[in-house]
Amino acid sequence: MTTPLKNSRAERSPAIDLPEVSMHLVRPTEPVTARVASSRICTRSTKCAGFVRHVEIDVSGTPLEGAFRAGQSFGVIPPGEDERGRPHKVRLYSIASPTGGERGDGRILATTVKRTVDEHWETGKLFLGVASNYLCDLQEGDEVQLSGPNGKRFLLPERPEEHDYVFFATGTGIAPFRGMIMELLEKKVDSRIVLVMGSPYRTDLLYDDLFTRLAREHENFTYLTAISREAEQPHGRGVYVQQRLATHREEIVPLLMTDRGLIYVCGVAGMELGIFQELARQLAPAMREPYLACDAETLAQVDTWDRRMIHRDIKPTRRVFLEVY
Ligand code: NAP
Repeated sequence: MTTPLKNSRAERSPAIDLPEVSMHLVRPTEPVTARVASSRICTRSTKCAGFVRHVEIDVSGTPLEGAFRAGQSFGVIPPGEDERGRPHKVRLYSIASPTGGERGDGRILATTVKRTVDEHWETGKLFLGVASNYLCDLQEGDEVQLSGPNGKRFLLPERPEEHDYVFFATGTGIAPFRGMIMELLEKKVDSRIVLVMGSPYRTDLLYDDLFTRLAREHENFTYLTAISREAEQPHGRGVYVQQRLATHREEIVPLLMTDRGLIYVCGVAGMELGIFQELARQLAPAMREPYLACDAETLAQVDTWDRRMIHRDIKPTRRVFLEVY
């Protein structure tokens, strides 16, 4: 059974069927108990700006076992109460594993968690994110309350071999793409795959060793990085993921020129605007329309686009999968 995505606009590209997935097998009000299988730092260096961990959780014997797909998320219910004395609400985390989980048997799912460490904007006091720090503090063998799975739109297509993929990730937005890319390469599909990964500093790149190895082992996989706060050239500036559409045009644009191309975007809210602007600049109309629909007047003002225009004046088509928070 598959779910064809609705047409947002008349398009030339063929319908993209997504697989039917299980959802809400476990409700947050009646969570299941799972156990942490492992937890490790997954930044390129341990001396870096952010604290990000790859946390693996054993869901054996729960309804979540074998019931999740790459691209979906699951809920974590932190213990304790909020400042109003109510139990903490569920927080959703992207699954960073392929559909079979970390070991192929559907028992271990993983996620990518960044500790939220901030200063309160009003009081100036230290603010620590409840769920992210709870998850990062958990040790192997600790219990954790989970719900899920969640999400039915941000998935690989039902017939992945019929497509080529350009993935744009910033920060922990890499989580779903780790699972998807591992899955595509495990299935040995012929698809061409490009990952563009954005980080503030080179030290903060996530799963850099994995993607570097996969790119070495698989001719059809290209791994590009975009470091925003380090200059690439002397006296130059850092780059955002969307700039790779210009600097690495030959590696990315050919994938988008056939009706096999799909674009996935995940990470910081706002990154999608820059990607759409760069697509508008780099792709000729016939190549652009399968991804982005906008009229000539809007297009002429591409340099002044803002986020509010997305979905209103700039319409990503069903070949663009977006998850930005
Ligand atoms: P991070 O390490 O701070 O990296 C974000 C990178 O994106 C930085 O290099 C940043 O550059 C750059 N960036 C900022 N604004 C941009 C823009 N408009 N266009 C392109 N690049 C831009 O990221 P993080 O702290 O892990 O945050 C990741 C975000 O992803 C969070 O908001 C999280 O909620 C979201 N996320 C979503 C999902 C999901 O929807 N399923 C899953 C996981 C994560 P500068 O800071 O140097 O400007």
